[in-house]
Amino acid sequence: MSHILPITTSQESSQPVPLIDLVAQYGTIRDEVQEAVHRVFERQSFVLGEEVSNFEDEVAEYCDSTHAIGCASGSDALLLALMALEIGPGDEVITTPYSFFATASSIARTGATPVFVDIDPSTYNIDTNRIEAAITRRTRAIMPVHLFGQCVDMDPIWRVATQHGLAIVEDAAQAIGASYRSRKAGVLGSVGCFSFFPTKNLGGAGDGGLVTTDDKDLASRLRRLRVHGDIGGYTHVDVGINSRLDALQAAVLSVKLKHLDSWSEARRENDRNYGELFQEFALNERVQSPTEVPERHHIYNQFTIRVPGVRDEVLKRLRERQVGCSIYYPKPLHLQECFSSLNYKYGDFPEAERAAAETIALPIFPELGAERQRIVVRELHHVLAEIDAEMYPSVRRAA
Ligand SMILES: *Cc1c(COP(=O)(O)O)cnc(C)c1O
Repeated sequence: MSHILPITTSQESSQPVPLIDLVAQYGTIRDEVQEAVHRVFERQSFVLGEEVSNFEDEVAEYCDSTHAIGCASGSDALLLALMALEIGPGDEVITTPYSFFATASSIARTGATPVFVDIDPSTYNIDTNRIEAAITRRTRAIMPVHLFGQCVDMDPIWRVATQHGLAIVEDAAQAIGASYRSRKAGVLGSVGCFSFFPTKNLGGAGDGGLVTTDDKDLASRLRRLRVHGDIGGYTHVDVGINSRLDALQAAVLSVKLKHLDSWSEARRENDRNYGELFQEFALNERVQSPTEVPERHHIYNQFTIRVPGVRDEVLKRLRERQVGCSIYYPKPLHLQECFSSLNYKYGDFPEAERAAAETIALPIFPELGAERQRIVVRELHHVLAEIDAEMYPSVRRAA
């Protein structure tokens, strides 16, 4: 118990620290955004059109993808990708149980079956060593999720997918700008899916999403599927959906895309700074920091630490002390009520279950600043020391 923290005496008053502050970011780009919004209103062309195709071109260039197809959300991007691959009833898609709900629901909505594989506890991404054992003759695709902004180890996935003739649908909703061996998230599989939900690293003024692919046929099917399968003149060749990107979103996102790399760099700087602060406050033994694997460029959509045994108490006390924090995700997907027909039970994916019980996300947004980061770490230290003192009173007396 050498790492039990001594209780701190200093009770410096401190400012509240939010988990994310979109108002601060808007302050840095207000004029550019307002000009873009104004331009859309003057044109009165609100759905798809030039703003959207320009933005699609910009994302395609940014990711080095041949095609980019805007749509209404990240959830729809996943659904459209699976529809374009003609995945449906009777098919199985392998994915992680430790992700946002839409990862698995997109599979279920096509009529296919999500098949879960446990995660690697150090990266929280799908454990690629376990994928092959989950493949059956019904398996059609693998859906890796680049969770928290760090790419999945794609090499083993490429190998297995090639060997078994499977498609790869990347859930890159949290990973725009992340890379794996210098190739960007979104171009590491057959189809890449992005979300522009406001809290993602590239966030719009509402919902938005996009699909990338290098396959010409898939791209034209995706363009068709997002407009009810219409090839023009109310001639429908597929039963598609209505999932288009708004011009207003595209205009705002075009402005923000130019700043994305500098924002990602600020997030990475915050990660380095957390490392130093954890050292300074002797927290390295007490909390497990995120692991950044070599040859991956992590863009820290979330900064997630582990605090085994005391997570809920840490969450409650940090919030009481006005430090923004959250849990991504408290309940793994295989234990969600709506998937009870899949017949999974507690204990099936111990690493996902353990992560769901032990992790907590701290503020990492680009505008956070060193001063507020110090407050976060100081408060975390205080809260942990307090909890330790309550749990091991004798140790404290002895110290
Ligand atoms: C946000 C997110 C989605 C869904 O994106 P929406 O735009 O909110 O529909 C899908 N998968 C993951 C991993 C996400 O984080």
